[in-house]
Amino acid sequence: MASLQSVSFSSSFDFPNKSTMFGSNLKLRGNELTRFRFWDHYPKIRPNLRLQASRISPELTKALTKETKNNKEILIKEASNGYNPFTEMKQRFLNFKKDKYLGNIEHYQNLAEDQTPKFTVIACADSRVCPSYVLGFQPGEAFMVRNVANLVPPYESGPTETKAALEFSVNALEVENILIVGHSRCGGIRALIGMEDEEEDSRSFIKSWVSVGKKARAKTKSVTSNLGFDQQCRHCEKESINHSLMNLLTYPWIKERVAKGILSLHGGYYDFVHGTFEKWTLDYNHEVDDGHTCSIKCREFWS
Ligand SMILES: [Zn+2]
Repeated sequence: MASLQSVSFSSSFDFPNKSTMFGSNLKLRGNELTRFRFWDHYPKIRPNLRLQASRISPELTKALTKETKNNKEILIKEASNGYNPFTEMKQRFLNFKKDKYLGNIEHYQNLAEDQTPKFTVIACADSRVCPSYVLGFQPGEAFMVRNVANLVPPYESGPTETKAALEFSVNALEVENILIVGHSRCGGIRALIGMEDEEEDSRSFIKSWVSVGKKARAKTKSVTSNLGFDQQCRHCEKESINHSLMNLLTYPWIKERVAKGILSLHGGYYDFVHGTFEKWTLDYNHEVDDGHTCSIKCREFWS
């Protein structure tokens, strides 16, 4: 897969003012249709589940209403005696169960039997990113992977939980899309940019992990050497997403599905400073094996 590593990416990072995000090795296509299908995959409701749901819903709703009332009273008492985060967490869960779970009991009963997500999402573990909240993924819609700096290791290196999640979601769940979500002010990318080459063998778990993105760091350094640290980080936040997209193609079962057109690879960038989201799709073609061509398409900027 050495040829894939020669693909180079962005030299333009001050989006959205630039008309293209990536360097000359990448071609940008227009607004082609993507394979995004958020809402059309719920399986048909089984008759036995519908019957079961109709029996349990009124009873549970009644009990839950009482439990919610009791917990609210505890919350009020705790307000003057010290905050307990788990009382509030319980309240959130009870609200979810009453308003959403029981309100859509047939759907959740179906989900209990099977999951058919169309997306695998790989996002940073940063607490501010939260793809389910920001992008509205509902239970059953996305197989979610969170790791520091939303990195995907290449196929060749050792085991990681991200690889296990990819194997299961692609081969067993047969997701149709993989979306890698990067974000602004990423601490993992700051650690990556701040590393020296000799630190890759560091005993720090953080440095050992983010060194997965060392090629993105090298590329960033090569095109942003005249810029400050913060600007280099911002560049690398997007550069690393595309390197991870290319790393996905080093997995033979991902590449095979992409080549067949049954799996699409997408990049996303959530800027929580400005409240914007940028997404793009890797335009795979077989020439990518020669390391000469890698394009993006369906680039959109949501603001
Ligand atoms: Zn991050």
